[in-house]
Amino acid sequence: MYAIHREWGRPFAVLLVALALAGCAIQKAAQSPRNVIILYADGTAATQFEFGRYTSEILRKEPYAVTDTVLKQGTIGLLTTHPYEAFATDSAATASAMSTGVKTTIGAIGVGPDGKPVRTAAQAAKVGGRQVGLITTSEIWDASPAAFSVHAKSRSESAAIVDQYLTLEPHVILGGGADFFLPKPRGRREDGKDVIAEFRAKGFTVARNAAEMRAAGSGRLLGLFSGGSLDHAIDRSGSDEPSLAEMTTAALKALAANSPQGFFLFVEDESTDTLGHRNDAAGLMRELWAFDDAVKVALEFQRRSPDTLVIVTGDHETGALSATYALKDLSSTSSRNRFYTANAQLEMLTRIRMSLDKASEALGKEPDAAVLDKLVAENFPGFTLDSDLRDGIVRQQVLERNFSYPTQNTLGRMVSRQTGIYWGTSGHSTEPVIVGAIGPGAERFKGYMDNTDFGRALQQMLERP
Ligand SMILES: [Zn+2]
Repeated sequence: MYAIHREWGRPFAVLLVALALAGCAIQKAAQSPRNVIILYADGTAATQFEFGRYTSEILRKEPYAVTDTVLKQGTIGLLTTHPYEAFATDSAATASAMSTGVKTTIGAIGVGPDGKPVRTAAQAAKVGGRQVGLITTSEIWDASPAAFSVHAKSRSESAAIVDQYLTLEPHVILGGGADFFLPKPRGRREDGKDVIAEFRAKGFTVARNAAEMRAAGSGRLLGLFSGGSLDHAIDRSGSDEPSLAEMTTAALKALAANSPQGFFLFVEDESTDTLGHRNDAAGLMRELWAFDDAVKVALEFQRRSPDTLVIVTGDHETGALSATYALKDLSSTSSRNRFYTANAQLEMLTRIRMSLDKASEALGKEPDAAVLDKLVAENFPGFTLDSDLRDGIVRQQVLERNFSYPTQNTLGRMVSRQTGIYWGTSGHSTEPVIVGAIGPGAERFKGYMDNTDFGRALQQMLERP
């Protein structure tokens, strides 16, 4: 009796184990995405996304996909940002950690603290048979896209970074930075190499403006739309450069048609960081809307290809931004002399016509007081430049030791005094960054993590076929 039971029990147990394994396989399949899209707003933490959400709802009457879709319907994580040797970080160390899973030093690109190369996210994607796409509003050899794909002891090794792109052969490269693809005098390379011609020889279509990018087929694509970085969204009117959303659309078209084993697409908005450095509230608001337009493109792609994981995050916070309440002037500290950042103050931002970078460019290195007054009157309607700030700009004085851009930061202070949107620094802060993920595998990015945990989870996902 007992013997018969044992004989019948064995196949039953085998069946149970087989069912359990099949269950695991199904669960594993559900958790491993075919395609991974990272939308990466440099210099952006929860504070910035909240600023984007509120202003998008109130001023442009549009839902904000980062918060309303990704964070509400997906998973939420919080990432530490410190590099190997400090508490406050730079973009190279954070992007390297989030790409490789290894904590490294300030300025390092895809190498450990010992300077030795460690596998990047793009290289892990190639192991998994995935195509790679890189997009940025900055120079494509800038810290973040570089650290997600190649290696350099220093972020300033721009020509060496570009050379490695030629070896890595991402299916799509879109952004600025033609300067280090071309020899002097057309570009800034010292070695006489024309890397654009080398990409063309490898079969890449080359686009130099938005129209050429749109006309490109679904094959391999190199789009370089500026010698340096691309225009901030607030300055884009009349530009022949594509927007971040347009670049995302073009990259997804090319990748979807040529990735039998899926793809990894890295989409960076660098202007969100630059505008934070300049303390440019109006510019940042427009940029956060433009970033969200790219998130909407990715989510639309995900609706058609549900085996796609969409991750939205940043690398660190820039500017110690805070919309707050403040005194209208220094005549009294009474609460009657106080105002709160309200919709009326936010509406003032929509009337600003240029970025603070563009204002600084127009004013030059030795700003003239009359030219400054005219520029403020014409491009910052409703704002008054107090005499202390006006003198500071003319004398090119920094506001404090943690503010490095005299013209931009001081014009930024003018905007702060009348809107209540203040900045604590022109540098990076240590605020943890938020990571929202939606789609298969999103739960891997949930909770409080070190930024290297993000890198390890990403690599495990990408290296799997
Ligand atoms: Zn920065």
